[in-house]
Amino acid sequence: MATSVLIIGAGVIGASLAYELAGRGATVTVIDAAQAGSGTSAATFGWVNSNDKAPAEYGHLNVLGLQAHERAARSIGGAGWFHQIGNVELARTETEFSALEDKVARLAADTYEAVLLTAADIRRLEPSLGTGRLAGGALYPREGWIDAITMCTALLSSAGQRGATFRPFEKVERIEGTSVITTSAGGSRNRHEADLIVLAAGNGRAGSRVCNIARSFFGPRRGCCRRNRNTASRTSASSARPCTVGARECSIKPCSGSSSYRSTHL
Ligand SMILES: Cc1cc2nc3c(=O)[nH]c(=O)nc-3n(C[C@H](O)[C@H](O)[C@H](O)COP(=O)(O)OP(=O)(O)OC[C@H]3O[C@@H](n4cnc5c(N)ncnc54)[C@H](O)[C@@H]3O)c2cc1C
Repeated sequence: MATSVLIIGAGVIGASLAYELAGRGATVTVIDAAQAGSGTSAATFGWVNSNDKAPAEYGHLNVLGLQAHERAARSIGGAGWFHQIGNVELARTETEFSALEDKVARLAADTYEAVLLTAADIRRLEPSLGTGRLAGGALYPREGWIDAITMCTALLSSAGQRGATFRPFEKVERIEGTSVITTSAGGSRNRHEADLIVLAAGNGRAGSRVCNIARSFFGPRRGCCRRNRNTASRTSASSARPCTVGARECSIKPCSGSSSYRSTHL
């Protein structure tokens, strides 16, 4: 891949993309109005799991995500940000425990690691647990939590080693064709050119604003993703210029009651 990519937003999405695309030979620039991981990623609970997620395709996607975190943690010093300590779910009553038995059997059938625990097992695992009612529980050993800010910083630093550039405290004001107009913290205006522009500006006010900017540029269509109308094939990324992708609209959550994803682009 020999293309220049400008990523707007250095949250988990933007930082991950920067790392992956730089590894595939793209010339990557990441711009953020603030610091890495300071948007929604700073507020996340950061639970990495595919714990009983429906529909099955969404569950599978989350398993792939868990595996991707494991791979990234191995290659990018994950000890500091991926705390794969497992997750314990408690059942306080026999009814809850019976429901948990069903769930563990269901997950095991899907080859998702889950182990039933007795109350004594749990008290051994968590000695500081209170003395309240406890019928048993389940352990999901491959789950864990992410320190998202440290993860974003580590991903960007590794992307930097692959040649990517990070420009913090630079706010995107406008997108004009293949140019992105920004204002730096000191008030100076900058113009950046790229073959491919990725909106990974999150879901907050600033992110909505960037998406609105993209909508005003691309016209009143759903979402803020656009490939060049000359681009016929999904796989011909190098010919997809200009291409703007809004992570906000490229949701990986399933539509309610449907097994299809709300939108996929690129
Ligand atoms: C309370 C809470 C709990 C959660 N728990 C979980 C969980 O357990 N597991 C899980 O997988 N997910 C969880 N999530 C969801 C997860 O945190 C988000 O999906 C993820 O952080 C979104 O990352 P992002 O990169 O898309 O956006 P963000 O982290 O918001 O990054 C967007 C970046 O874009 C920048 N930006 C915005 N506008 C501009 C602009 N105009 N110019 C330049 N830069 C701009 C922002 O400064 C920001 O850094 C949780 C979310 C919340 C709120």
